[in-house]
Amino acid sequence: MKIYNYKDLSKSKIEELCSRQIEDDKLVESRVADIIKTVREDGDQALFNFAKTFDKVELKKLFLDREELQAIAASIPADAKKAIDTAYENIKNFHLSQLKKEDKVETMPGVVCWREARAIEKVGLYIPGGTAVLPSTFLMLATPALIAGCKEIIVCSPPQQDSKTNCYLAYCAVLLGIEKIFMIGGAQAVAAMAFGTESVPQVYKIFGPGNRYVTTAKTMVQNKVAIDMPAGPSEVLVVADETAIPSFVAADLLAQAEHGTDSQAILVSTSNDIIAETIKEVEKQLTILPRKDIAAKAIDNSYAVLTDNIALAMQFSNEYAPEHLILATEEYQKLIPLITNAGSVFLGNLTPESAGDYASGTNHTLPTSGFAKAYSGVSVDAFIKKITFQHLSTEGLNNIGTTVETLAAAEGLEAHKNAVSIRLNFESGVGSQE
Ligand code: NAD
Repeated sequence: MKIYNYKDLSKSKIEELCSRQIEDDKLVESRVADIIKTVREDGDQALFNFAKTFDKVELKKLFLDREELQAIAASIPADAKKAIDTAYENIKNFHLSQLKKEDKVETMPGVVCWREARAIEKVGLYIPGGTAVLPSTFLMLATPALIAGCKEIIVCSPPQQDSKTNCYLAYCAVLLGIEKIFMIGGAQAVAAMAFGTESVPQVYKIFGPGNRYVTTAKTMVQNKVAIDMPAGPSEVLVVADETAIPSFVAADLLAQAEHGTDSQAILVSTSNDIIAETIKEVEKQLTILPRKDIAAKAIDNSYAVLTDNIALAMQFSNEYAPEHLILATEEYQKLIPLITNAGSVFLGNLTPESAGDYASGTNHTLPTSGFAKAYSGVSVDAFIKKITFQHLSTEGLNNIGTTVETLAAAEGLEAHKNAVSIRLNFESGVGSQE
């Protein structure tokens, strides 16, 4: 893990450190473009072929139905079932609080405007399953979709070696009342949900994190469907002062690093000692991790930054705009107002990112690659559209009429002006309307 001193960093070096560009981006783009084209042309057959090429599985069918899911779910260990149930309750309770009815606003007497939420009818959820199967992502995506009231929820996840899905995903499907899991991974899953195939229904919006193939595909199909956000390789930035506990910080960095070799785990600290001790701890804890090869590569791509004070640490963090931000300090309250860009924030030494990854209730599908500067993480809002409504009474028409007529005339749009004038003239002839 390289160490930089913030005061020695030029503007362009800071930009470089905050950039998540990877050298072979163009290669991934051209592969993904080919995959999307093939799925559009060959439909289900392309999906069978890609499962063989990328997942090394010869599928006989593309999905598991409710009965098959129930049979697979039955083998879930009792402790895992209990943990999924607890996480689901917390995620459900947190997301239920996001459903809020908006007030009607009378902008002028007799002119009433308001917004109403409607669920996106058809949504597609991608549950990663390449290097690790993530039932937690299933809960994080399907729970808000169900709370929002989405009618058709399509779920795709890469097939496992037995041509099935694992018992944890199957249990989530049963718990959530999801009828089918399509065993499709990567860019081909995104293409199938965006354009539809013989088996996979086309959706209006695609959600979910994934590796670079998945994320690139999501950005490429945006002229056909909406997407939640670019949620690619995971990243964490830990801001630590001298009150941080190095073994905790190291554990948090490694928790991120084990996701994938392209994950980033960044430490920004006001203390040289904390940086040195954390790096020692990372090396120690790494040795016992089952995914140590992956984590070690991710740590090699990561770095630490030493700053003169905590405000500069927060400045760097805002520029980096991390998916996950951990404030490893007893003074976290003072830092909250300084945060401008982050996906999800973990406060104090006792709040590991893992709590939010699995079970505290907040959503773990979050913007990566600096997109936290402009995007929020997934929530119930992401599964609904807000439709505006308005109603004018006679009083309202009379109050707003001249304003609209004048603006329409100024823009030279006579038909717009007439749509008001014709009503004003009619009203003066027949009396008032509610
Ligand atoms: P994945 O399901 O995203 O990808 C697996 C699929 O990638 C395979 O099924 C295959 O189709 C495709 N693939 C693999 N190699 C390919 C190749 N050479 N060419 C074309 N396609 C190929 O699973 P994963 O790989 O384990 O990645 C999961 C990712 O999700 C990680 O990077 C993790 O950091 C990220 N993640 C992000 C968030 C977030 O909120 N941002 C949350 C959880 C996980």
